[in-house]
Amino acid sequence: MAHFSGRDLIYVLMLCSAVWFLIMFVQLESCRGGINDHQPSSLVTYRKALAAKEKEIKYLREHADSLNRRQHVVGLPTIYIITPTYTRPVQKAELTRLSTVFHSISNVHWIVVEDSDVKSNLVVDFLKDCELNTTHLLSVTPPDVKLREKDPNWLKPRGVLQRNTGLAWLRSNLNADFNHGVVYFADDDNTYSVKLFAEMRDTKKVSVWPVGLVGKLRYESPLIEAGKVIGWHTYWFRNERPFAMDMAGFAVNLHVILENSLAKFDINAKRGFQESVFLQALGITLEDLEPKASMCTKVLVWHTRTEPANLSNEEKMEMKGYKKSDSHVEV
Ligand code: UDP
Ligand code: MN
Repeated sequence: MAHFSGRDLIYVLMLCSAVWFLIMFVQLESCRGGINDHQPSSLVTYRKALAAKEKEIKYLREHADSLNRRQHVVGLPTIYIITPTYTRPVQKAELTRLSTVFHSISNVHWIVVEDSDVKSNLVVDFLKDCELNTTHLLSVTPPDVKLREKDPNWLKPRGVLQRNTGLAWLRSNLNADFNHGVVYFADDDNTYSVKLFAEMRDTKKVSVWPVGLVGKLRYESPLIEAGKVIGWHTYWFRNERPFAMDMAGFAVNLHVILENSLAKFDINAKRGFQESVFLQALGITLEDLEPKASMCTKVLVWHTRTEPANLSNEEKMEMKGYKKSDSHVEV
């Protein structure tokens, strides 16, 4: 039987420690190497990458249903459509008109922002049934900046805070590593051609096009010379507005929005200057604008306005002894 002295035991222990240190060293290095494959070189950047992955997983989980639907094409940039909306008799008709168009577009994510402090049943149910990839947000306009029924429509800006809420959602739920696409502000009463969305999908920074029936003209449009925007076909503040176009006349690459996290609309901006305030905050210049719709010669979106519903016969029904329309029937 072999005999070990105390010295042998110390040698064996020293050998074991050395092997253990070697193993730990190799593990540490391979671990660092693994992280380096994904670029981050410090714990902070590693944590950032992890947070981005967590966002990605959260997004996929929340939108798994709609991402599986036929409208989703892998690799195609998503069109994030931000729509402010508010309760009135024509609301469901407006949302229905929009959703019918959006059904014909692939990879669309519709962000509907209600001007309210509670989600209305009408919008909740509508979005549940509409078979689109949607997000329902809230942002109530405070009474001092809210347009009243009798006010002329130009008196106060509409949809401003709701668009900002949509932007805030994009910035806290998407990340530039995983999400690619374009952001478009689509008011609920305008009319959109399906072709418009194909035009905007490959926007590098900001793409622009004409808008029909706006500014008391047949159309407003960027003016193009040698393939570049050099000014604006518009009547109002033509030379004063850096970007003299309607909200419906441009789309912005998602990464531009994520990279300029402070850019937003301003409830106090001068009338007609919302678009300019936002695009300037994004650091955009005329040079950056990408003319679409056959070099801005085609109208693919119209600034239509829906006449308020006249429901005055409802009251008269009772006076005649008829029953009023059933309040349980959603219109
Ligand atoms: N909007 C809103 N709250 C309001 C009025 C309007 O959220 O009190 C929304 C409206 O649904 C639309 C957008 O803001 O999507 C722009 O409003 P509107 O179409 O009335 O403005 P205009 O066409 O006059 O620019
Ligand atoms: Mn409108």
